[in-house]
Amino acid sequence: MTSTPEGGSAVPCATPAPPSSLSPSRAADFMQCPLRYRFRVIDKLPEKPSEAATRGTVVHAVLERLFDAPRAERTAVRARAMVPVEWERLLAQKPELAELFADDEAGPGAERLARWLESAERLVDRWFSLEDPTRLEPAERELYVETALESGLVLRGYVDRLDVAPSGDLRVVDYKTGKAPRAEYAADALFQMKFYALVLWRLHGVVPRRLQLVYLGSGDVVTCDPTAEELRGVERKLLALWEAIQRATESGDWRPRPSRLCDWCDHQPVCPAFGGTPPVYPLPTMRRPPGAEERA
Ligand code: SF4
Repeated sequence: MTSTPEGGSAVPCATPAPPSSLSPSRAADFMQCPLRYRFRVIDKLPEKPSEAATRGTVVHAVLERLFDAPRAERTAVRARAMVPVEWERLLAQKPELAELFADDEAGPGAERLARWLESAERLVDRWFSLEDPTRLEPAERELYVETALESGLVLRGYVDRLDVAPSGDLRVVDYKTGKAPRAEYAADALFQMKFYALVLWRLHGVVPRRLQLVYLGSGDVVTCDPTAEELRGVERKLLALWEAIQRATESGDWRPRPSRLCDWCDHQPVCPAFGGTPPVYPLPTMRRPPGAEERA
């Protein structure tokens, strides 16, 4: 990973390219802040690893791999013991994560690592109060899904778990290591699940029976049984979003949209909303003819 001397993020870590597909997280990025989407998808500016995101990766790996064990052995004790193992596995793949637990003014890294591992184990433990893995046999785990809509828009992403009932009904399950959002934000969280439901519907011709969000941070399970009409609405929304992304890609006009989420954005040093200057836009731009926006 590279960065500016000021700790900013102005050096791209891969070749800039126009966006070619949409995932739920990048769709959420664009809705939250178009400029952040640009920094992540087009400029591909590096971002610092975070303890929270890394904990999420480790916990997801535990919940995925626990199902490798026979049903009777899918116990909380076994799952907790897998936490340090999955952390070491991830560290071997991404040695740069060691910087998360380097000694610093916050204290010895080893102590912070121990507390962090305990926090991951608590999240894994909580899962056992929400679901019983000895009674589950997932059809798929960490399933990559991708489909192209008639418009050509490619939708893709990873489904944490897909359960198939004897009746053939599909249940899409996603684990969240944070807390369940307040009611007014629940629709945003379910949008990601409906995105997956739309992709699975297009791939298999069947609308998933249930979408299930499992919040390990607060111990909540949020479910939704989507209808075909709802998923058609999601498709319309994604097409409009993609059109807006393409307009911004062509014009180079990516606006910052400051919000409380800026506190967790690595790109403040190059964001105009914080007095920064974005890197030179790396893609060719074209001027759209007058009125094109209204007709689109
Ligand atoms: S700091 Fe805020 S406004 Fe600026 S790019 Fe990040 S999220 Fe957007």
